[in-house]
Amino acid sequence: MYKIKSWFKSRLIADYAGTMMVVAIFIIIFMAISFTLLSPYIAREQLSSKLDTMSSELVDNYSTNIGEYHELITDVVNNINFDCSKSDRKYIKTKTYNKYYIKNLQDNISLWAIDNNKEQSILSLVWEDTKGKVSIDFEPIISKVTRNKHCDDCILTVVSIPNNNKTLHSQDDDENVLSKQALNIEVFKNSLILKNYVDPQLLSLISMDLKPLLFIIGGLIGLLVFFVINTYTKHQLSLHSLIIKGIWRKEFIPYYQPIINVKNNKMYGCEVLVRWWFNKKELISPDEFIPYAESNGLIIHITDILLEKTLAQLSSLDWNKSSGIISINLVPEQLENKLHMRKAVDLIIKSSISPKLIAFEITERMSFTDLDKAAAVIDYLKAQGINVKLDDAGTGYGSFSYIQHLKLQSLKIDKMFVDTIGTFDHRLSVLDSIIAFGKKSGMEMIAEGVETKEQSEYLLNNGVYLQQGYYFSEPLKFEQFHDYYKQDQVNN
Ligand code: C2E
Ligand code: CA
Ligand code: CA
Repeated sequence: MYKIKSWFKSRLIADYAGTMMVVAIFIIIFMAISFTLLSPYIAREQLSSKLDTMSSELVDNYSTNIGEYHELITDVVNNINFDCSKSDRKYIKTKTYNKYYIKNLQDNISLWAIDNNKEQSILSLVWEDTKGKVSIDFEPIISKVTRNKHCDDCILTVVSIPNNNKTLHSQDDDENVLSKQALNIEVFKNSLILKNYVDPQLLSLISMDLKPLLFIIGGLIGLLVFFVINTYTKHQLSLHSLIIKGIWRKEFIPYYQPIINVKNNKMYGCEVLVRWWFNKKELISPDEFIPYAESNGLIIHITDILLEKTLAQLSSLDWNKSSGIISINLVPEQLENKLHMRKAVDLIIKSSISPKLIAFEITERMSFTDLDKAAAVIDYLKAQGINVKLDDAGTGYGSFSYIQHLKLQSLKIDKMFVDTIGTFDHRLSVLDSIIAFGKKSGMEMIAEGVETKEQSEYLLNNGVYLQQGYYFSEPLKFEQFHDYYKQDQVNN
């Protein structure tokens, strides 16, 4: 995966326009086809919502014009002969419903329809009694376009009143439509249930109609997605190429933050924290580029530069005369890479600083891919005298399993937990548990991010006497650290 990513990245750098053109074509075609494939669902949704609105409008319309269905039916049943004779028709027509006409479908089955010159709307309701049978058919108004283009009888709306258990009726040619599941069902007041049945053929015809439009919409959305990806890639790529340039120009420099032994107020050592001296003008903090560098393998080169500079600078201080531990941050991926670690060890051996004074901090915020490999490298480092500490303990993946598996003997307690001292934060108990665990396992513990006297004292009272934080000193550039170190040597 990583190889594919870096291959893609180098392609992008070599030929950005060409590669992005291929990406654009791929995304646009992919989105256009995906949208086209959605056409059956969209056709269904579209028709269903159209029928929903039309059905409710229709029922509202009929309710206001005709009134209660029960009353209507009762009235009809009492007053007509169910023979679709002239007198029946006249009765119905002249009663109140002069906007409707009645048509004889079969014996004892009649059809009423509203004739508003525009669209036909029919609702079908069957009433069967000892005296005969009445059928009233309503049909949702389907737009003229759909109707004329496709079919006349492809939608059937049926209405039933559950109490009367009257089901519907279909005209002969509706049977096919009725055999499928209703497309939508609505329950209206008066417990009237309305179901719309649709001929599947109609859906596939509408779906066909939608395809060209969906293809275009999908393509346009694909284009939009491409623009977003393009902007993001350009930003990332520029960060990528800037870091590469920074590596090439060795713009990464170490800052040093003292770690204090609070028991005797002597410096125990320091943590090396990278800064980017961008264009030799601007100082960039690690948060801006470390996450990216860590996820792209560029961190390896940054660490190399940092290590080289640290060794040179601290050698100039005669560091070997102190017993100060120099802590350098690594990510798990680096530790799993034996070749890279060998190179680092060679650099250390070649310098005037004893490997015994070097430690690596491995953050547990990132996971290891191969713990066995890492354990083997740690054994190798230990054999050289280099210690490995667990950084940010308690914040990430598997403190306890890492400590066990990698046989670590030092841990750094993250600022997140130190911050809880003197508060009611429930994580204070996590801090206490980490400390208890550390003590029980006989581990060396360093607390980081100590900002106040209260925090420092709490930690000391709980046995954590190695401390690092603004309370003692911020990370210092070499010139300042030089003075700090000399002062520390004088004081002790
Ligand atoms: P970290 O390893 O947890 O380092 C401690 C961070 O806390 C440093 O931030 C330090 O400046 C800051 N800090 C120390 N004491 C205090 C304090 O009392 N109060 C506050 N507010 N902050 C304090 P920095 O230097 O910005 O580094 C941030 C992170 O970047 C580091 O967190 C580490 O994860 C990463 N990093 C720095 N240098 C390197 C490096 O060379 N390699 C790798 N892989 N990561 C690095
Ligand atoms: Ca660290
Ligand atoms: Ca930390």
